[in-house]
Amino acid sequence: MLEIHQFPCLTDNYGFLLHDPDSGETAAIDTPDGEEYLRQAQARQWRITAIWNTHWHPDHTGGNAAIVAATGATVVAPAEVERIAPVDRIVASGDMVMLGKHEAQVMDVGGHTKGHIAYHLPVDGLAFVGDSLFALGCGRMFEGTPQQFWASLARLKSLPAETTIYCAHEYSLANARFALHADQGNDALVIYAREIEDKRERGEWTVPFPLARELATNPFLRADDPEMAAHWGGDAPHETLAALRAAKDAF
Ligand SMILES: [Zn+2]
Repeated sequence: MLEIHQFPCLTDNYGFLLHDPDSGETAAIDTPDGEEYLRQAQARQWRITAIWNTHWHPDHTGGNAAIVAATGATVVAPAEVERIAPVDRIVASGDMVMLGKHEAQVMDVGGHTKGHIAYHLPVDGLAFVGDSLFALGCGRMFEGTPQQFWASLARLKSLPAETTIYCAHEYSLANARFALHADQGNDALVIYAREIEDKRERGEWTVPFPLARELATNPFLRADDPEMAAHWGGDAPHETLAALRAAKDAF
């Protein structure tokens, strides 16, 4: 059974170490802060053997060099990461990455950046999605098109509903406020938003979360819902998504 160690990094990032006790291998999922990752691994007596980057942004790759220098870890990443750091193995949609005997499938979830990927571990029921999907939100569309981003969100929607989603930021409270504005009359959303408010008030994390809950409440995943389309406009889900994304950016 994989062990997942989660810890806050930088201002609002989460760091994740994924450890396989059988093989002794440990993957760093993104690297917002290399020194912090090394400290956290050391405290568990884990040696980081691999880095799995989701996209090129510095708060996801900035610690690669320090971790590689200290551990010799293998860097697995989408090609876009080569813009700012060396990559040992470039991966893309359909590729498989192993941690011991545990298999992670690489998914194309571009839109936030063009080459953004997610790591889905189907047998373990986990997905590390970086900045593509958040609790009640999605990443800003910096590089991709609405068509690309919608295709990515549709792929995430098609994962088994019981999949546990690990996203890279604690943005849930702000996302909940926009979601309540975007999707009025959604009872499941009202309950979820209240839970997020309570958790944040107690200083608790809202990550990870089950995909099933997002399917019912996340306005960006619901851009193909006829009611959302009627309210936000758009003849196709990507157009509704674009309207929602623009409204959130200005909210
Ligand atoms: Zn990012």
